[in-house]
Amino acid sequence: MGMMGVVRPPERYAPDLAAYHERARTGPCFVCGIVARDLDFSDHHIVYEDDSAIAFFNRWPTQRGYTLVAPKGHREHATGDFTVDEYLALQRIVYGAAEAVREEVGAQRMYVMSLGSNGGNAHIHWHVVPLPPGTPYEEQQFAAVMLETTGALDMPEDEKASLAARIGRRMGG
Ligand SMILES: [Zn+2]
Repeated sequence: MGMMGVVRPPERYAPDLAAYHERARTGPCFVCGIVARDLDFSDHHIVYEDDSAIAFFNRWPTQRGYTLVAPKGHREHATGDFTVDEYLALQRIVYGAAEAVREEVGAQRMYVMSLGSNGGNAHIHWHVVPLPPGTPYEEQQFAAVMLETTGALDMPEDEKASLAARIGRRMGG
């Protein structure tokens, strides 16, 4: 929480993206690592988990509440690795995450998308990103999610943990 009456832009920083991309391309699957509670990935605060899906925070959020939703099993194709029923079940979790994030942090719009690369971060996941109210037009859309240009929000780990718990409660976790 900031001091009352003092409005400051959020502090941001540039993570070591070269090291990140190296690890993404050569290291173990990060989603499988989070599912397995691998300590290398313990800074992705887990928001929600059930038998088939997991939701967790982006390690380097460009927006407060930036959440990723993934199937727990290692799948790579956004549609082709799922039956339609499996896909729709997962999208129910995406919907729940988006509504929980929107209710918890406020958003003029929710961005929902799947990106990834077969050369790194192959485990399919959906980005659920709140666009804060009042964000100028030029800072919306890709500019609101691009770590390379926007930088990561400097949020204390305990603040991330409590926000993750509140979003998780809204998801019924
Ligand atoms: Zn995986």
